[in-house]
Amino acid sequence: MLEDETTDLLQQLIQNACVNDGRVESGAEIRSVDLLQQYLGSAGLDVERYEPRPGRASLVARIEGSDPEAKSLLLMGHTDVVPVNADGWSREPFSGDIVDGFVWGRGAVDMLNITASQAVAFRNLAQSGFRPKGTLIYLAVADEEALGTWGAKYLVEHERDAVYADYVLTESGGYQMPTPEGIRLPVLTAEKGTFWSKLRIGGTPGHGSQPFRTDNAVVTASEVVRRIHAYRPQTQIQDVWRQFVEGMHYPPEIAGAFLDPEGLHDALAELPLGMSRLVHACTHTTFSPNVMHGGTKTNVIPDTVELEVDIRTLPGQTGEEVRAMLDDALGDLADRVEIESNNDPSTESPVDTPLWDSLARVTGRLVEGSALVPFLMVGGTDNRFFRRAGSVGYGFALFSRRLSFEDYATMFHGNDERVDVESLGLSEELWEAVARDLLE
Ligand SMILES: [Zn+2]
Repeated sequence: MLEDETTDLLQQLIQNACVNDGRVESGAEIRSVDLLQQYLGSAGLDVERYEPRPGRASLVARIEGSDPEAKSLLLMGHTDVVPVNADGWSREPFSGDIVDGFVWGRGAVDMLNITASQAVAFRNLAQSGFRPKGTLIYLAVADEEALGTWGAKYLVEHERDAVYADYVLTESGGYQMPTPEGIRLPVLTAEKGTFWSKLRIGGTPGHGSQPFRTDNAVVTASEVVRRIHAYRPQTQIQDVWRQFVEGMHYPPEIAGAFLDPEGLHDALAELPLGMSRLVHACTHTTFSPNVMHGGTKTNVIPDTVELEVDIRTLPGQTGEEVRAMLDDALGDLADRVEIESNNDPSTESPVDTPLWDSLARVTGRLVEGSALVPFLMVGGTDNRFFRRAGSVGYGFALFSRRLSFEDYATMFHGNDERVDVESLGLSEELWEAVARDLLE
């Protein structure tokens, strides 16, 4: 049974513990590339390997289409995972143990579950003699958890011909959300951008024993932090959010509040905490002051503070617009602050595409009474590199009813990450069915 094959492969990927802590010498995804090469190779499939830095390997396998004009599809899963704090877990985080129908371990939902089910689907298609018109590509990619530098970003820039496809499917989405009109399955058609900023706040050094009327950079910086925290960017109701709210069939008073640019901010206070954070992030540019370094010694009045602010931008926003918001937040302190920003804008794919239609047909069969809704990813995925290169990229997979959106959200980079075996089987069926529907 392919559900069992997916489960087995997922357990081994978890046990490989390709932990990416952001350092180039971490990750060691080569272990999972070896595993996947062996797995696909045992069915007679050829694979290509790319290793831009020692150990940071990615693997590509292809089923060439018969018609060079036909559109291609890429199934992409990352093999790296984020670090764990084992103290917070109730089981060993890299065991891959199965308990009560759930596979436990770091990466179970982000996203080794998908990496495994895509590999099984790809191998099964190849073995069953699948000869599509359009090319099918499988990519097990390194370094997603640290900006994709040695993974998707590198491959799109340096090995475009090997990995580029017209359509891309990767994490996440596809959890079953009940509505009065039936199950809705979110497809991540867009993701927010980042505008990470380093703020340097100056002062005048002096002796700590005479602080009266001094120009202390830590004191100024604390006011800068307070202003950024208090800043209320305008609510923006964009297309993806509107289509999501309409598709969810919320009661009219909730839908009304969710689509009201004037009233939404106040309505957030009434929502459960996790929900209010997500709704806020989907409808606002967000500013989070997260790192601060300043001062050198207890008896020295500090003349420099460095503050790092995690800014997340909405589809369509330019760097100039975001910079103007930051200046607005700082007010009359703006000229006391030097700002260095790295703009990585939001990316978006349209909803009216053959990929969307194909997903809709297939999921309608696999999850009875379901329909798709577009959704905005508030974090980042490797889809952004492919969208910028011209692909239509969606975040999607399928999950059973045993895994709610709330479970899923808390396990992402959290403790006690696990996935049920039924979800693995559903996703495996999804990839096979979409490849056949779209490429044949
Ligand atoms: Zn991920």
